Amino acid sequence: MAENDITGAPPAALPGQPSVVPRTAAALIDIGINLAHDSYDADREAVIARAAAVGVVQMIVTGSSAASSRTAISLSRQHPDRLFATAGIHPHHATELTAAVVAELGELALAPQVVAVGECGLDYYRNYSPHDAQREAFHRQLELAARCGKPVFLHQRDAHEDFLAILREHWPALAGGVAHCFTGGVAELESYLEMGLAIGITGWICDERRGAHLPDLVRRIPANRLLLETDGPYLLPRDLRPKPPSRRNEPVYLPHIAGAVAHARGEPLSSLARTSTEAARRLFQIHEVDSGKFS
Ligand SMILES: [Zn+2]
Repeated sequence: MAENDITGAPPAALPGQPSVVPRTAAALIDIGINLAHDSYDADREAVIARAAAVGVVQMIVTGSSAASSRTAISLSRQHPDRLFATAGIHPHHATELTAAVVAELGELALAPQVVAVGECGLDYYRNYSPHDAQREAFHRQLELAARCGKPVFLHQRDAHEDFLAILREHWPALAGGVAHCFTGGVAELESYLEMGLAIGITGWICDERRGAHLPDLVRRIPANRLLLETDGPYLLPRDLRPKPPSRRNEPVYLPHIAGAVAHARGEPLSSLARTSTEAARRLFQIHEVDSGKFS
């Protein structure tokens, strides 16, 4: 979601070793990790290794600008079968989507490492780009996703009606999509499910202040459309104990988030892990990886 959702000082580059998180019984996929973010510059390989050690076998690196989309693809090339990329322009950067950038994104989206177009959508909460520019950029990227036949990785905040209207227009031509970092209410959730979207759940559900409504809502999501993501470096789960030395989030905490979601749904973590991983593989056309290869 959530550029600037780390409040206060920027995250420290090197947090030290995060607290030990138990390995899950089944492989997990972090479908939204902003691994191109500069807060990972000092220890990106260690972040990837720590994730693998707790069973996060694959990750989708979010592209939110032309530059971060290029970085996401190059990281994915360095870690084949393990990292995948999205290519897109976040609504915060909507004014950057010139015709030249649309053409460049069109090229990037064809890369075999790219499994979705986005993150794209509307954000009327931060309003870093004017609404008309955001709507325009959203249309262009949905057209692009339809042309390349890849699903969309969607961001929406405080813009539900416009978002839904635009998405509805393009939906018949699209290869599915995910409402990433879902934090909305029941009506929003039902309209996404009715349309056919998958739903991405982050550590927002671990926030007893602003995520208190989510445990009830995640029970409504069909298992085959529930995806898990950290959205790191943003949205560090608030209930980690002991508190990590840094506020930077990273994929090693995905099992913790999965545990919170499984608990809310009253199902074993192993079953949620299996269904969410299958759902991610189906939507993004990601093949199973030989887990021995990375452990
Ligand atoms: Zn987002």
